[in-house]
Amino acid sequence: MNKQEERPSLNFLEAIIEEDINNGKNGGVVHTRFPPEPNGYLHIGHAKSICLNFGLAEKYGGKTNLRFDDTNPVTESTEYINAIKDDVRWLGFDWEDREFYASDYFDQLYEWAVKLIKEGKAYVDDSPVEDIRRMRGTPTQPGEESPYRNRSVEENLKLFEGMKNGDFDEGSRVLRAKIDMTSTNMQLRDPVMYRILQKEHHRTGDKWKIYPNYDWAHGQSDALESITHSMCTLEFEIHRPLYNWFLDQIGDFDPRPRQIEFARLNLSYTVMSKRKLLELVNGEYVNGWDDPRMPTILGLRRRGYTPESIRNFAERVGVAKRDNVIDLSLLEFCIREDLNKRAPRVMGVLAPVKLIITNYPEGQTEELEVENNPEDPESGNRIVPFSRELYIERDDFMEEPPKKFFRLGPGREVRLKGAYIVQCEDFKKNEETGEIEEIYCTYDPQTKSGEDTSGKKVKGTMHWVSAEHAQKVEVRIYDRLFSDPDPAGHKEKDFKEFLNPDSLQIIKDAYVEPSLKEAKHLEHFQFMRKGYYSLDPDSTAEHLIFNQTVTLRDTWAKINKK
Ligand code: ATP
Ligand code: MG
Repeated sequence: MNKQEERPSLNFLEAIIEEDINNGKNGGVVHTRFPPEPNGYLHIGHAKSICLNFGLAEKYGGKTNLRFDDTNPVTESTEYINAIKDDVRWLGFDWEDREFYASDYFDQLYEWAVKLIKEGKAYVDDSPVEDIRRMRGTPTQPGEESPYRNRSVEENLKLFEGMKNGDFDEGSRVLRAKIDMTSTNMQLRDPVMYRILQKEHHRTGDKWKIYPNYDWAHGQSDALESITHSMCTLEFEIHRPLYNWFLDQIGDFDPRPRQIEFARLNLSYTVMSKRKLLELVNGEYVNGWDDPRMPTILGLRRRGYTPESIRNFAERVGVAKRDNVIDLSLLEFCIREDLNKRAPRVMGVLAPVKLIITNYPEGQTEELEVENNPEDPESGNRIVPFSRELYIERDDFMEEPPKKFFRLGPGREVRLKGAYIVQCEDFKKNEETGEIEEIYCTYDPQTKSGEDTSGKKVKGTMHWVSAEHAQKVEVRIYDRLFSDPDPAGHKEKDFKEFLNPDSLQIIKDAYVEPSLKEAKHLEHFQFMRKGYYSLDPDSTAEHLIFNQTVTLRDTWAKINKK
């Protein structure tokens, strides 16, 4: 075995970090940050970034800061801040006492801006926004210098202070860095550093009338927090020279933060931009940010996803340098794998039809012992009541079954899970609707599970619940929110046109075994042969509601191939 084979290969971020450590850069320290803007709830893409930032720091004995990038009071709020903190904690990460806000640095940023003005590296521009945009040029044409570009330092200082004090209207002036209007990198064509916003900030109140732009806040915040590796998504690659230019102007930092870009997570059948998610919420296309169909952490959590499954997903997706799309079924695979290990098996009938065992004594109940989880030897057994009248799944019976149908049909035998072998003798059908109303069977007392002396073999095992003991519940079944793999990728059409009209199916009269009366919020169960379910937070003792987290198998892959 050669050296490279002995250890798992590094992803490119790990390779960069290890190289820095080996070169003794930043004293070998790794310090990352997760920098959400508190203008919406976190989604699975953010989870990827969280796992990456916290995961890398953990791996290399470093730390991670939680930093709210709160530079836009118009769209940000405390509600979002609290929700983001909950989500990060729920995912299993701890920023300890390192909770920071870009707004903590507004004073410092202002001072640094004044320094830039004094050095002739920033100026106040009175041009209307449209002019500034037009004069930036295009990727193939250089920009034009603003007529205000060569204002004196004194005039700039005075105007900038006026901007800060609220002397001018919103949109009337900006502060721009004076870099190079002919640069091939458009980000360096005198980027805006501050704009006037006469808005209350959720943390600084009405102290500020000007707010820094992302580029003038992010790298500086990184430097102030001694961040070593500042990971961001690919669209910021072209901002990197500006990130470095700003740092170069304000001083020597040790550690000196380094921006590194990776490909954002894109998921098929999903939209991920906060703006679009907000549109779904505000337009009531979904029932809020925590709707189990949403790709938000809150939604996934309510759907029954576990933090482990999401961390595992992030790990499997890995990091890429180029944009790609991950199939939603990988996320489903990860939750299935996790719940298979941990979710107790129970019986629940979603589309019930009565099965009556005609030779079973009326009024008799047996308490059968059924194992909770064959995957988990520690999980023990539970008691499931059995009686003469049961519910089984409607589609487990066919009047004229084909040969390969190993479930119930006239004359056929099946095993009822954990109970007996029954044989179908007859059935009752509603002649008008054609609906099967009751199925009549006989059971063989010698075939009791675990004590079977009959020597009989049957091909099918079915789940059931005792009609008298069963608990009626509501079950919500979810399908993909969009019916198109790339809903936001159609230029001519709004992504909402691709909403899947059947993404939510509500079953009002499902029946589950009585042990589920004790289920707790967000506890996970496998309904045998059906899928994984968890109790919805809106559930009450009188009205139990289960969400389907995921089916047992990837049925979607098959449907798609048809
Ligand atoms: P969106 O584009 O969804 O509105 P955003 O980038 O504006 O998200 P921020 O709150 O600024 O959201 O993001 C916080 C961090 O999460 C940033 O470092 C950002 O790069 C990262 N991030 C956001 N979306 C993704 C994604 N899809 N994949 C990986 N990282 C992401
Ligand atoms: Mg952003």
